[in-house]
Amino acid sequence: MGKVLVIGAGGVSTVAVKKIAMNADVFTNILIATRTQSKADKIAAGITNLKVYTAQVDADKQDELVALFREFKPDLVVNLALPYQDLSIMDACLAYGVSYLDTANYEPLHEAKYQYSWQWAYKDRFEKAGLTAILGCGFDPGVTGVYTAYAAKHYFDEIQYIDIVDCNAGDHHKAFATNFNPEINIREITQRGKYYENGEWKETEPLSVHQTLHYPEVGPKESYLMYHEELESLVKNFPTLRRARFWMTFGQEYLTHLRVIQNIGMSRIDPILYNGVEIVPIQFLKAVLPNPGDLGENYTGQTSIGCRIRGLKDGKELAYYVYNNCSHQAAYKETGAQAVSYTTGVPAMIGAKLFMQGRWKKPGVWNVEEFDPDPFMNELNEQGLPWREQFNVDLEL
Ligand code: NDP
Repeated sequence: MGKVLVIGAGGVSTVAVKKIAMNADVFTNILIATRTQSKADKIAAGITNLKVYTAQVDADKQDELVALFREFKPDLVVNLALPYQDLSIMDACLAYGVSYLDTANYEPLHEAKYQYSWQWAYKDRFEKAGLTAILGCGFDPGVTGVYTAYAAKHYFDEIQYIDIVDCNAGDHHKAFATNFNPEINIREITQRGKYYENGEWKETEPLSVHQTLHYPEVGPKESYLMYHEELESLVKNFPTLRRARFWMTFGQEYLTHLRVIQNIGMSRIDPILYNGVEIVPIQFLKAVLPNPGDLGENYTGQTSIGCRIRGLKDGKELAYYVYNNCSHQAAYKETGAQAVSYTTGVPAMIGAKLFMQGRWKKPGVWNVEEFDPDPFMNELNEQGLPWREQFNVDLEL
């Protein structure tokens, strides 16, 4: 049993807090702290079975965070703000002495580049302080790492090839919208592609490599090779991997909008002067795009995300596909948020729950695949993200 402090009050936080409240045997009370307190108040208003407090905080400011931690005395801080805040929140956790969990790795505000090295550099300090940091505990990264660890533990002697496949076959009935924070999403998608093969990283032009893949209950979808952060930790934690790639589906309409946004300079992350005021085009764009948290009501269809893994068992080739399909409407009915927020918020809660229960608790900084996958896999089935397995099917990749 413990107290959890959730930072951020967007779509992912909406789901995670609701799910925390549905596990009141483990969580005693919640503080939601964010930049705009009214958004935290809105989430808190939907919870009646558990005491939920709210607060205003600028998570870029370590002293504000530490003051808040001193007042609330959390057992765990769950960072559901933006990747820019990861390091200031980790610093505050160390300064006060509390464990940490997030769903996205650190990214500097002024450079669209994300990598784990910045957060892995905290390992010794968390270890010495006897504190746990759980990194990347959403769906991808998150569940994809747990799926891989589960496959390695139960089915393979040696994992050799992994393709993470992320399909959103939903329709939000908007001309253009992103499914999570637009700024983070567009920064991620417009960067160069990258994958791992035979001991080295290979780069591709953005979204230039693509092929049609078939997704269960969805059918064929054009899927684009991209770099995604869990590739970095999986390659490190499963050194037998010969190749690791990540694929995401996009519709033509989405890609056309994205191309226009780039061509007209609206994806720029450097400040420009507008009427004597400095603005960052991508931040302005975020302000005029639909709020991902509001897409749920008219969202139809489902997501299908999984791992396609090949390797050896008893000297023979084994092909394995593990995945979850999540309905936007079902997610909305349960939590008021669409499936992309749902598939991220639920695993964040599960990681927090396993920490509170002492099952995912060890001093240091860890990616999810470094913990025992079994209790997490059980919780996925209990908490709304059931998974399915297929053996020796055509993985297409
Ligand atoms: P939103 O933009 O909807 O929410 C982010 C929240 O963080 C907002 O409430 C925002 O406040 C708050 N925030 C931003 N900056 C600060 C700050 N300096 N201090 C305090 N609060 C701040 O994002 P999402 O809910 O869609 O995503 C949340 C996180 O989840 C992101 O890091 C995203 O990358 C990650 N994610 C991970 C996925 C995975 O599978 N692993 C998938 C999808 C998302 P305000 O409202 O005032 O702006």
